[in-house]
Amino acid sequence: MCGINMNSFPYTSAMIKPVGGRCNLKCAYCYYTHHKGGTDKALGVCETTDFILDFARAAGRPVSIVFQGGEPLLAGIKYYEDVFSAIAESRVPAAFSVQTNGHLLTEDFCSLFKKYNVLTGISIDGPKEINDKARPGSFERTMGAVRLMQKTGVDFNTVSVLAKHNYSETGGVYNFLKSEGCFYQQYITCFPDFYSKGWFLSGEELEGALDTLFNLWKTDWKDVFIREFDDLLKASAGIPASECMLGRQCAGALTLSSDLSLYYCDVPSVQKAFAGYYPCDLDKIAESRKCRDFIRRKSVFPQECRRCEWVSLCNNSCPEMRVSGLYRYCKAMKNFFEKNSAVLKMIAEQALRRKDLLRF
Ligand code: SF4
Ligand code: SF4
Repeated sequence: MCGINMNSFPYTSAMIKPVGGRCNLKCAYCYYTHHKGGTDKALGVCETTDFILDFARAAGRPVSIVFQGGEPLLAGIKYYEDVFSAIAESRVPAAFSVQTNGHLLTEDFCSLFKKYNVLTGISIDGPKEINDKARPGSFERTMGAVRLMQKTGVDFNTVSVLAKHNYSETGGVYNFLKSEGCFYQQYITCFPDFYSKGWFLSGEELEGALDTLFNLWKTDWKDVFIREFDDLLKASAGIPASECMLGRQCAGALTLSSDLSLYYCDVPSVQKAFAGYYPCDLDKIAESRKCRDFIRRKSVFPQECRRCEWVSLCNNSCPEMRVSGLYRYCKAMKNFFEKNSAVLKMIAEQALRRKDLLRF
Protein backbone atom coordinates (compact mmCIF):
# COMPACT_ATOMS: atom_id res chain seq x y z
CA MET A 1 0.00 0.00 0.00
CA CYS A 2 1.19 3.44 -0.88
CA GLY A 3 2.17 5.26 2.31
CA ILE A 4 1.64 8.97 2.88
CA ASN A 5 4.85 10.71 2.00
CA MET A 6 4.68 14.48 1.75
CA ASN A 7 7.59 14.81 -0.64
CA SER A 8 8.17 17.48 -3.24
CA PHE A 9 6.69 15.55 -6.14
CA PRO A 10 4.34 18.20 -7.54
CA TYR A 11 1.69 15.99 -9.19
CA THR A 12 -1.34 14.24 -7.74
CA SER A 13 -3.06 13.70 -11.10
CA ALA A 14 -1.93 11.76 -14.13
CA MET A 15 -3.50 11.59 -17.54
CA ILE A 16 -3.27 8.44 -19.63
CA LYS A 17 -3.95 8.36 -23.36
CA PRO A 18 -4.23 4.64 -24.07
CA VAL A 19 -4.68 5.11 -27.83
CA GLY A 20 -2.90 8.47 -28.15
CA GLY A 21 -4.77 10.85 -30.43
CA ARG A 22 -6.77 8.18 -32.24
CA CYS A 23 -10.45 9.08 -32.37
CA ASN A 24 -13.70 8.04 -34.03
CA LEU A 25 -14.82 11.66 -34.46
CA LYS A 26 -13.33 14.68 -36.20
CA CYS A 27 -14.15 17.66 -34.02
CA ALA A 28 -13.30 20.89 -35.76
CA TYR A 29 -11.30 22.46 -32.93
CA CYS A 30 -9.36 19.38 -31.75
CA TYR A 31 -5.62 19.91 -31.42
CA TYR A 32 -4.76 16.45 -30.18
CA THR A 33 -5.07 14.38 -33.36
CA HIS A 34 -2.08 16.41 -34.61
CA HIS A 35 -0.11 15.77 -31.42
CA LYS A 36 3.01 13.63 -31.44
CA GLY A 37 1.21 11.11 -29.24
CA GLY A 38 -1.40 10.65 -31.98
CA THR A 39 0.09 7.38 -33.21
CA ASP A 40 -1.37 3.97 -34.02
CA LYS A 41 0.22 2.46 -30.93
CA ALA A 42 -1.87 1.48 -27.91
CA LEU A 43 -0.75 1.16 -24.31
CA GLY A 44 -0.71 -2.34 -22.85
CA VAL A 45 -2.28 -3.22 -19.50
CA CYS A 46 1.12 -3.85 -17.86
CA GLU A 47 2.62 -0.56 -19.07
CA THR A 48 -0.44 1.26 -17.78
CA THR A 49 -0.58 -0.39 -14.36
CA ASP A 50 3.19 -0.05 -13.87
CA PHE A 51 2.91 3.63 -14.63
CA ILE A 52 -0.03 4.14 -12.22
CA LEU A 53 1.78 2.30 -9.42
CA ASP A 54 5.00 4.24 -10.03
CA PHE A 55 3.07 7.47 -10.15
CA ALA A 56 1.22 6.76 -6.88
CA ARG A 57 4.49 5.82 -5.17
CA ALA A 58 6.14 9.05 -6.36
CA ALA A 59 3.16 11.17 -5.31
CA GLY A 60 2.91 9.49 -1.90
CA ARG A 61 -0.71 10.63 -1.65
CA PRO A 62 -4.05 9.45 -3.06
CA VAL A 63 -3.91 10.08 -6.80
CA SER A 64 -6.36 10.84 -9.55
CA ILE A 65 -5.99 9.06 -12.89
CA VAL A 66 -7.75 10.41 -15.97
CA PHE A 67 -8.10 8.39 -19.19
CA GLN A 68 -8.35 10.66 -22.18
CA GLY A 69 -7.60 10.75 -25.89
CA GLY A 70 -8.30 10.94 -28.72
CA GLU A 71 -11.10 8.63 -27.73
CA PRO A 72 -9.97 6.47 -24.80
CA LEU A 73 -12.77 3.88 -25.09
CA LEU A 74 -11.14 2.71 -28.35
CA ALA A 75 -8.77 0.80 -26.04
CA GLY A 76 -11.63 -1.67 -25.43
CA ILE A 77 -13.36 -2.84 -22.29
CA LYS A 78 -10.85 -5.62 -21.51
CA TYR A 79 -8.07 -3.05 -21.16
CA TYR A 80 -10.05 -1.14 -18.51
CA GLU A 81 -11.23 -4.28 -16.69
CA ASP A 82 -7.63 -5.44 -16.35
CA VAL A 83 -6.20 -2.06 -15.35
CA PHE A 84 -8.90 -1.28 -12.76
CA SER A 85 -8.78 -4.72 -11.18
CA ALA A 86 -4.95 -4.71 -10.99
CA ILE A 87 -4.93 -1.31 -9.27
CA ALA A 88 -7.74 -2.33 -6.91
CA GLU A 89 -5.77 -5.46 -5.96
CA SER A 90 -2.65 -3.38 -5.31
CA ARG A 91 -4.74 -1.28 -2.84
CA VAL A 92 -3.10 1.91 -4.09
CA PRO A 93 -5.47 4.84 -3.39
CA ALA A 94 -6.40 5.93 -6.90
CA ALA A 95 -9.59 7.56 -8.20
CA PHE A 96 -10.36 7.09 -11.88
CA SER A 97 -12.10 9.20 -14.47
CA VAL A 98 -12.61 8.90 -18.21
CA GLN A 99 -13.20 11.68 -20.73
CA THR A 100 -15.15 10.32 -23.70
CA ASN A 101 -17.39 11.25 -26.63
CA GLY A 102 -19.61 8.37 -25.51
CA HIS A 103 -19.98 6.68 -28.90
CA LEU A 104 -18.56 3.36 -27.69
CA LEU A 105 -20.21 3.40 -24.29
CA THR A 106 -22.16 0.21 -23.56
CA GLU A 107 -24.04 -1.26 -20.58
CA ASP A 108 -20.91 -3.32 -19.84
CA PHE A 109 -18.75 -0.21 -19.72
CA CYS A 110 -21.33 1.42 -17.43
CA SER A 111 -21.31 -1.59 -15.05
CA LEU A 112 -17.52 -1.46 -14.95
CA PHE A 113 -17.49 2.29 -14.30
CA LYS A 114 -20.03 1.85 -11.51
CA LYS A 115 -18.03 -0.99 -9.96
CA TYR A 116 -14.86 1.13 -9.79
CA ASN A 117 -16.54 4.53 -9.20
CA VAL A 118 -15.21 5.95 -12.44
CA LEU A 119 -16.38 9.52 -13.00
CA THR A 120 -17.20 9.98 -16.68
CA GLY A 121 -16.87 13.26 -18.54
CA ILE A 122 -18.99 13.31 -21.69
CA SER A 123 -18.26 15.83 -24.44
CA ILE A 124 -21.31 17.66 -25.76
CA ASP A 125 -21.47 21.25 -26.97
CA GLY A 126 -25.23 21.85 -26.80
CA PRO A 127 -28.41 20.77 -28.61
CA LYS A 128 -28.05 19.05 -31.99
CA GLU A 129 -28.04 22.16 -34.17
CA ILE A 130 -25.16 23.65 -32.13
CA ASN A 131 -23.25 20.50 -31.17
CA ASP A 132 -23.05 19.10 -34.69
CA LYS A 133 -21.52 22.28 -36.13
CA ALA A 134 -18.20 21.39 -34.48
CA ARG A 135 -18.75 17.70 -33.69
CA PRO A 136 -20.36 16.54 -36.95
CA GLY A 137 -22.89 13.73 -36.78
CA SER A 138 -22.25 13.01 -33.10
CA PHE A 139 -25.30 14.33 -31.26
CA GLU A 140 -27.61 11.27 -31.25
CA ARG A 141 -24.95 8.83 -30.12
CA THR A 142 -23.67 11.19 -27.46
CA MET A 143 -27.19 11.67 -26.10
CA GLY A 144 -27.65 7.89 -26.21
CA ALA A 145 -24.61 7.62 -23.94
CA VAL A 146 -26.01 10.29 -21.59
CA ARG A 147 -29.27 8.35 -21.28
CA LEU A 148 -27.42 5.10 -20.70
CA MET A 149 -25.39 6.66 -17.88
CA GLN A 150 -28.55 8.11 -16.35
CA LYS A 151 -30.28 4.72 -16.57
CA THR A 152 -27.37 2.80 -15.06
CA GLY A 153 -26.45 5.42 -12.45
CA VAL A 154 -22.91 6.20 -13.66
CA ASP A 155 -21.57 9.48 -12.22
CA PHE A 156 -20.98 11.86 -15.08
CA ASN A 157 -20.51 15.47 -15.98
CA THR A 158 -20.88 17.16 -19.36
CA VAL A 159 -17.90 18.94 -20.92
CA SER A 160 -18.70 21.68 -23.44
CA VAL A 161 -16.08 23.57 -25.40
CA LEU A 162 -16.80 27.28 -25.69
CA ALA A 163 -15.96 28.26 -29.26
CA LYS A 164 -17.36 30.08 -32.30
CA HIS A 165 -20.26 27.66 -32.74
CA ASN A 166 -21.88 28.20 -29.33
CA TYR A 167 -20.53 31.34 -27.60
CA SER A 168 -23.57 33.45 -28.54
CA GLU A 169 -25.97 30.71 -27.42
CA THR A 170 -24.60 29.60 -24.06
CA GLY A 171 -28.04 30.19 -22.54
CA GLY A 172 -29.46 27.63 -24.99
CA VAL A 173 -26.64 25.20 -24.23
CA TYR A 174 -27.12 25.53 -20.46
CA ASN A 175 -30.93 25.22 -20.59
CA PHE A 176 -30.74 22.25 -22.94
CA LEU A 177 -28.31 20.37 -20.67
CA LYS A 178 -30.37 21.20 -17.60
CA SER A 179 -33.58 20.05 -19.29
CA GLU A 180 -31.83 16.74 -20.08
CA GLY A 181 -30.99 16.23 -16.40
CA CYS A 182 -27.28 17.08 -16.80
CA PHE A 183 -26.68 18.94 -13.53
CA TYR A 184 -22.88 18.67 -13.45
CA GLN A 185 -21.46 20.79 -16.23
CA GLN A 186 -18.05 21.97 -17.32
CA TYR A 187 -17.26 24.65 -19.91
CA ILE A 188 -13.77 24.83 -21.29
CA THR A 189 -12.48 27.64 -23.44
CA CYS A 190 -11.24 26.52 -26.85
CA PHE A 191 -7.43 26.51 -26.78
CA PRO A 192 -6.09 29.27 -29.02
CA ASP A 193 -3.54 27.22 -30.94
CA PHE A 194 -2.72 26.70 -34.58
CA TYR A 195 -5.32 23.98 -35.16
CA SER A 196 -8.21 25.78 -33.52
CA LYS A 197 -7.76 28.83 -35.76
CA GLY A 198 -11.17 30.13 -36.69
CA TRP A 199 -12.81 28.52 -33.61
CA PHE A 200 -11.34 30.20 -30.54
CA LEU A 201 -13.04 33.24 -29.07
CA SER A 202 -12.22 36.93 -28.85
CA GLY A 203 -12.30 38.49 -25.37
CA GLU A 204 -15.68 40.12 -26.03
CA GLU A 205 -17.14 36.81 -27.18
CA LEU A 206 -15.88 34.95 -24.11
CA GLU A 207 -17.10 37.67 -21.75
CA GLY A 208 -20.61 37.56 -23.28
CA ALA A 209 -20.67 33.76 -23.12
CA LEU A 210 -19.67 33.72 -19.44
CA ASP A 211 -22.07 36.51 -18.50
CA THR A 212 -25.02 34.64 -20.02
CA LEU A 213 -24.06 31.41 -18.27
CA PHE A 214 -23.48 33.11 -14.94
CA ASN A 215 -26.79 34.99 -15.04
CA LEU A 216 -28.68 31.73 -15.50
CA TRP A 217 -26.60 29.73 -13.06
CA LYS A 218 -26.69 32.23 -10.18
CA THR A 219 -30.31 31.35 -9.46
CA ASP A 220 -29.73 27.60 -9.95
CA TRP A 221 -26.43 27.17 -8.10
CA LYS A 222 -27.86 24.88 -5.42
CA ASP A 223 -28.93 22.32 -8.07
CA VAL A 224 -26.64 22.86 -11.05
CA PHE A 225 -22.87 22.68 -10.75
CA ILE A 226 -20.64 24.45 -13.22
CA ARG A 227 -17.07 23.50 -12.48
CA GLU A 228 -15.56 26.84 -13.52
CA PHE A 229 -17.99 28.83 -11.34
CA ASP A 230 -17.54 26.39 -8.46
CA ASP A 231 -13.81 27.07 -8.72
CA LEU A 232 -14.48 30.80 -8.52
CA LEU A 233 -16.65 30.19 -5.44
CA LYS A 234 -13.81 28.23 -3.87
CA ALA A 235 -11.28 30.94 -4.70
CA SER A 236 -13.65 33.56 -3.19
CA ALA A 237 -13.69 31.47 0.01
CA GLY A 238 -9.90 30.88 0.02
CA ILE A 239 -10.18 27.18 -1.00
CA PRO A 240 -7.82 25.97 -3.76
CA ALA A 241 -9.47 25.63 -7.17
CA SER A 242 -9.89 22.10 -8.54
CA GLU A 243 -8.59 23.16 -11.92
CA CYS A 244 -5.04 24.34 -12.61
CA MET A 245 -5.82 27.23 -14.95
CA LEU A 246 -7.67 29.31 -12.34
CA GLY A 247 -5.64 27.94 -9.47
CA ARG A 248 -2.23 28.91 -8.12
CA GLN A 249 -0.40 25.72 -9.10
CA CYS A 250 0.72 24.48 -12.48
CA ALA A 251 1.16 20.68 -12.44
CA GLY A 252 -2.25 19.71 -13.73
CA ALA A 253 -1.56 16.13 -14.80
CA LEU A 254 1.59 14.26 -15.77
CA THR A 255 0.57 12.82 -19.13
CA LEU A 256 1.47 9.43 -20.61
CA SER A 257 0.66 8.84 -24.26
CA SER A 258 0.29 5.62 -26.23
CA ASP A 259 3.87 5.68 -27.54
CA LEU A 260 5.08 5.90 -23.89
CA SER A 261 6.03 9.56 -24.32
CA LEU A 262 5.58 11.58 -21.13
CA TYR A 263 4.56 15.24 -20.82
CA TYR A 264 4.45 17.69 -17.93
CA CYS A 265 0.96 18.58 -19.08
CA ASP A 266 -1.42 17.90 -21.94
CA VAL A 267 -0.83 21.29 -23.61
CA PRO A 268 -0.57 21.83 -27.35
CA SER A 269 3.08 23.00 -27.26
CA VAL A 270 4.55 19.53 -27.29
CA GLN A 271 8.26 20.27 -27.13
CA LYS A 272 7.94 22.54 -24.10
CA ALA A 273 6.01 19.84 -22.24
CA PHE A 274 7.97 16.76 -23.37
CA ALA A 275 9.50 15.01 -20.35
CA GLY A 276 10.98 11.80 -21.81
CA TYR A 277 9.84 8.22 -22.28
CA TYR A 278 8.38 5.79 -19.77
CA PRO A 279 9.70 3.61 -18.10
CA CYS A 280 11.83 6.13 -16.27
CA ASP A 281 12.33 7.48 -12.77
CA LEU A 282 9.32 9.76 -12.21
CA ASP A 283 10.96 11.47 -9.23
CA LYS A 284 13.89 12.43 -11.44
CA ILE A 285 11.51 13.72 -14.13
CA ALA A 286 9.80 15.95 -11.54
CA GLU A 287 13.10 17.14 -10.07
CA SER A 288 14.55 18.04 -13.46
CA ARG A 289 15.33 21.63 -14.27
CA LYS A 290 13.05 21.45 -17.32
CA CYS A 291 10.05 20.34 -15.23
CA ARG A 292 10.63 22.96 -12.57
CA ASP A 293 10.99 25.68 -15.20
CA PHE A 294 7.79 24.48 -16.88
CA ILE A 295 5.84 24.62 -13.62
CA ARG A 296 7.40 27.88 -12.46
CA ARG A 297 6.02 29.75 -15.49
CA LYS A 298 2.57 29.80 -13.85
CA SER A 299 3.73 32.00 -10.97
CA VAL A 300 5.38 34.64 -13.15
CA PHE A 301 2.96 37.57 -12.97
CA PRO A 302 3.44 40.89 -14.79
CA GLN A 303 2.94 44.12 -12.87
CA GLU A 304 -0.65 44.37 -14.10
CA CYS A 305 -1.53 41.15 -12.25
CA ARG A 306 0.42 42.06 -9.12
CA ARG A 307 -1.70 45.21 -8.86
CA CYS A 308 -4.95 43.51 -9.86
CA GLU A 309 -7.75 43.14 -7.32
CA TRP A 310 -8.91 39.91 -9.02
CA VAL A 311 -5.61 38.09 -8.93
CA SER A 312 -6.75 35.50 -6.39
CA LEU A 313 -9.65 34.55 -8.69
CA CYS A 314 -7.71 34.55 -11.94
CA ASN A 315 -4.03 33.83 -11.19
CA ASN A 316 -3.16 35.00 -14.73
CA SER A 317 -4.58 31.70 -16.03
CA CYS A 318 -2.43 29.10 -17.79
CA PRO A 319 0.96 30.15 -19.21
CA GLU A 320 -0.16 28.62 -22.52
CA MET A 321 -3.06 31.09 -22.58
CA ARG A 322 -0.85 34.17 -22.16
CA VAL A 323 0.24 36.75 -24.69
CA SER A 324 3.42 38.62 -23.70
CA GLY A 325 3.08 37.19 -20.19
CA LEU A 326 -0.53 38.29 -19.59
CA TYR A 327 -3.69 36.13 -19.83
CA ARG A 328 -5.09 36.69 -23.31
CA TYR A 329 -8.57 37.10 -21.79
CA CYS A 330 -7.44 39.51 -19.04
CA LYS A 331 -9.78 42.34 -20.04
CA ALA A 332 -12.75 39.98 -20.43
CA MET A 333 -12.11 38.48 -16.98
CA LYS A 334 -11.70 41.90 -15.33
CA ASN A 335 -15.04 42.97 -16.79
CA PHE A 336 -16.65 39.68 -15.73
CA PHE A 337 -15.35 40.00 -12.14
CA GLU A 338 -16.40 43.65 -11.92
CA LYS A 339 -19.96 42.72 -12.88
CA ASN A 340 -20.27 39.47 -10.95
CA SER A 341 -17.87 39.30 -8.01
CA ALA A 342 -20.38 40.62 -5.43
CA VAL A 343 -22.87 37.86 -6.36
CA LEU A 344 -20.06 35.29 -6.43
CA LYS A 345 -19.02 36.29 -2.93
CA MET A 346 -22.59 36.09 -1.65
CA ILE A 347 -23.10 32.62 -3.13
CA ALA A 348 -19.71 31.49 -1.77
CA GLU A 349 -20.76 32.53 1.75
CA GLN A 350 -24.05 30.62 1.47
CA ALA A 351 -22.32 27.59 -0.09
CA LEU A 352 -19.72 27.56 2.70
CA ARG A 353 -22.50 27.47 5.29
CA ARG A 354 -24.18 24.61 3.41
CA LYS A 355 -20.81 22.83 2.99
CA ASP A 356 -21.48 22.83 -0.75
CA LEU A 357 -18.04 23.98 -1.82
CA LEU A 358 -16.37 20.65 -2.40
CA ARG A 359 -18.90 19.22 -4.78
CA PHE A 360 -16.72 18.99 -7.91
S1 SF4 B 1 0.47 24.46 -18.38
FE1 SF4 B 1 -1.61 25.27 -18.07
S2 SF4 B 1 -2.99 23.51 -18.34
FE2 SF4 B 1 -0.90 22.71 -17.98
S3 SF4 B 1 -0.77 22.34 -15.77
FE3 SF4 B 1 0.03 24.41 -16.16
S4 SF4 B 1 -1.72 25.78 -15.87
FE4 SF4 B 1 -2.53 23.69 -16.12
S1 SF4 C 1 -7.62 39.80 -14.55
FE1 SF4 C 1 -5.82 40.33 -15.80
S2 SF4 C 1 -4.50 41.56 -14.47
FE2 SF4 C 1 -5.99 40.48 -13.17
S3 SF4 C 1 -4.92 38.62 -12.52
FE3 SF4 C 1 -6.14 38.12 -14.36
S4 SF4 C 1 -4.73 38.42 -16.08
FE4 SF4 C 1 -3.81 39.44 -14.31
